[in-house]
Amino acid sequence: MIEKIPAGDLIFLGTGTSHGVPMIGCECAVCSSPDPRNKRTRSSIILGFPEGDLLIDTSPDLRQQFLRERLLYADSILFTHPHVDHLFGLDDTRRFSHLNGMRPIEVFCSEHVEREIHARFEYIFDPAVQNFPAGGIPKLHLNRIEPFREFEVLGQKVLPLRIIHGRIEILGFRIGDLAYCTDVKIVPPETMEHLYGLETLIIGCLRYDPHPTHMGLDEVLELVEKLQPKRVFFTHIGHGFDHEKLSRELPEHIRPAFDGLYLEKCFPTS
Ligand SMILES: [Zn+2]
Ligand SMILES: [Zn+2]
Ligand SMILES: [Zn+2]
Repeated sequence: MIEKIPAGDLIFLGTGTSHGVPMIGCECAVCSSPDPRNKRTRSSIILGFPEGDLLIDTSPDLRQQFLRERLLYADSILFTHPHVDHLFGLDDTRRFSHLNGMRPIEVFCSEHVEREIHARFEYIFDPAVQNFPAGGIPKLHLNRIEPFREFEVLGQKVLPLRIIHGRIEILGFRIGDLAYCTDVKIVPPETMEHLYGLETLIIGCLRYDPHPTHMGLDEVLELVEKLQPKRVFFTHIGHGFDHEKLSRELPEHIRPAFDGLYLEKCFPTS
């Protein structure tokens, strides 16, 4: 079991789009592929911060992801947005509470996510459920964050960024010279300013063609051309992309990520 991820390291827990890959009922070449890099659970990463592990998003596959990586728990959780594929694994974090001695899990999210957490997981905040001696619920402490207001968590500074994801605004994050921007359709100019000089950009890239709420490959490559990060990893990948084929089509410094990909020292710890 991994008690603590070394500070500066990152694990891709999930790299798939909202359906996951393979997708239920699909027999396409990628969904039927034996290549493990074509098996994508819903998008999430976990990072080693100086004072604990930070999880970004709680995907519906959270349980399988923690079992696969032999992780115990995250000390803190950061949310990009409240879509089902990023939030609805939240209940499984009750296991974190059992394992961490019922220390509150510090959750950092926008007002929109906070509202959705209260609406979807009303029971977590119900004193009658909290005091009932069975079942168990995660012990959460919610903290509100806003775009461009830097905050500190687990001894590390994080800058939330405004990202346009179709009809809703969501958050991306810059952590030192690493940025995580999943579910991106448009990067507004005020966010562009904060994305120069990156060592590592992790960006949502759904498929070859554009999509109403996600960037397609050409849109991502155009953005990468402007920002010139040293290296790029795609996440939130659909079944249109075969890992091997896409890797061959891309320049060396741009790679599709895959579930379980481990990056060492990918951001300086502050
Ligand atoms: Zn998503
Ligand atoms: Zn398919
Ligand atoms: Zn989304």
